[in-house]
Amino acid sequence: RAKSDGRGCYRFFEARMGAQVRDRRLMEHDLRHAVTRGELAIVYQPQTRIDTGETVGFEALLRWIHPERGHVSPALFIPVAEETGAILAIGEWVLRETCREAASWRRPLRVAVNVSAVQIHSPAFAELVHAVLLTTGLPAERLELEITETALIRDLPRALATLRKVKALGVRIAMDDFGTGYSSLSNLRAFPFDKIKIDASFTRSVDTSEQAAAIVRTVLGLGRGLGLPVLAEGVETIAELAFLGAEACPEAQGYLFGRPSAIAAFAHLTGEPEPAAGAEPRVMAA
Ligand code: C2E
Ligand code: MG
Ligand code: MG
Ligand code: MG
Repeated sequence: RAKSDGRGCYRFFEARMGAQVRDRRLMEHDLRHAVTRGELAIVYQPQTRIDTGETVGFEALLRWIHPERGHVSPALFIPVAEETGAILAIGEWVLRETCREAASWRRPLRVAVNVSAVQIHSPAFAELVHAVLLTTGLPAERLELEITETALIRDLPRALATLRKVKALGVRIAMDDFGTGYSSLSNLRAFPFDKIKIDASFTRSVDTSEQAAAIVRTVLGLGRGLGLPVLAEGVETIAELAFLGAEACPEAQGYLFGRPSAIAAFAHLTGEPEPAAGAEPRVMAA
């Protein structure tokens, strides 16, 4: 009996594995065409200066609207795109689209673009960034690249050389998801970061967990000591914001300030002119 149970269990496992592998193959296949089929979209989330409440920039976040699956989370498809190499074409598209979009804003706000490990370690990444800035006309100092520590460890000397070239263009570099993954304080010293982004997992419990509060205070102290501005990710509540304000955290980002949305939703922040009252389309009431 035990034996047959075991086999049944194994068959179930095998069937599930089969479905997962098929699913994965399908996703790999579909991802290769996502750019050319126009299934990718970029949404933007405001980054806010806490003491004045003003919007200082936006983070660009990728969305995949699959014809059958609907919205696929980047947390699901980015790792697949990294393994197949599709991330190179996708990442280039995100960079170009985002820079072109930001260059059109009336207000000279910053824009942050997430960059994957595969991009950082690909040859000529710095040259690509340079070319995109030239063709889109976005001033280098308005572009910020967000990179996780984990993205750097594959080949630290190579990653460092690339980041130095990017920095030399005048582009800013932010350490994303600080405190998670293979964090090492020596990375903060060795790499030319301009900002630390505290991971949302810490921000989310500052008002309820002494440990999370202590970690956030420590990162803020680290930022002050190193002269690096800190941004707290994933701020959802007034209580979290109050804590961050009291601890003099410079910047924040999260649903409290705005959910990632099409840029048109933030026209009042990017400085687009309000449509003239007379120009508004009107529907006549019967
Ligand atoms: P990330 O760069 O750390 O982005 C922050 C994530 O937190 C985003 O998830 C954002 O939608 C979400 N978020 C923002 N505020 C809040 C909040 O108040 N509460 C909660 N619960 N979540 C919040 P998203 O858009 O699903 O992206 C997930 C991750 O996928 C990103 O984490 C980033 O690592 C990656 N990603 C997104 N776009 C790109 C891209 O263009 N290229 C690459 N390489 N990776 C990307
Ligand atoms: Mg990010
Ligand atoms: Mg993050
Ligand atoms: Mg909370």
